[in-house]
Amino acid sequence: AALGRQAVAILAQVRDVVVEHEEDLGKLDAIAGDGDHGIGMRRGVDAAAAASEGAEGASVARVLTAAGEAWSERAGGTSGALWGSAVIAAGLSLGNRETYTSEDAAAAVRDFVRAITELGKADPGDKTMVDALLPFRDTFLTELDGGTPVDRALAVAAAAAESAAAKTAELRPLKGRARPLAEKSVGHPDPGAVSFGLIAARISHFID
Ligand code: ADP
Ligand code: MG
Ligand code: MG
Repeated sequence: AALGRQAVAILAQVRDVVVEHEEDLGKLDAIAGDGDHGIGMRRGVDAAAAASEGAEGASVARVLTAAGEAWSERAGGTSGALWGSAVIAAGLSLGNRETYTSEDAAAAVRDFVRAITELGKADPGDKTMVDALLPFRDTFLTELDGGTPVDRALAVAAAAAESAAAKTAELRPLKGRARPLAEKSVGHPDPGAVSFGLIAARISHFID
């Protein structure tokens, strides 16, 4: 279960990057939201990383299903439910593969993003993590189509996610808890978009 083991190692990286930015993410969410994005992500990734370690040796599908379920359950909050379902969807997409092709990676990313858009129903421009996810997915797929290797495509896509996350500062939130205080949010990026960009960047550095 080589790919399952790689998933465990990646989730440990995700945990580390969230821990490093926990306080900043909380402050960002406090501007117009309820301030719990740091602690929520922290609880989610702690639980996900621990659950993945508990499933070490199993298929990537089993590792990521255990991780995603733990993430949703323990994070509480909107982003935890969305991340949990996305992690599970990516795991089911990869199934019991031991290695992945470009096509497998493309399918896993598509399914990861689809889980979030289907569950959260946010549209582009609503100022949510979707505004970082869609540029990430589209850049990744375009790079792979052009023959870029997966690790390099991931690095380019992560950079696109980070710049798209920064650009959400211009937007007014139309979904989620920040909506009632939308005016305060303008000028500051969306917390969920920022955390996604940070996580994508960390994974791409790790895999490189
Ligand atoms: P909560 O809003 O429940 O306190 P968090 O603070 O952890 O949860 O997460 C807030 C983030 O969740 C937002 O910054 C946004 O990126 C994301 N989010 C909120 N609602 C949606 C949605 N419907 N679709 C996608 N992402 C969403
Ligand atoms: Mg919050
Ligand atoms: Mg909350």
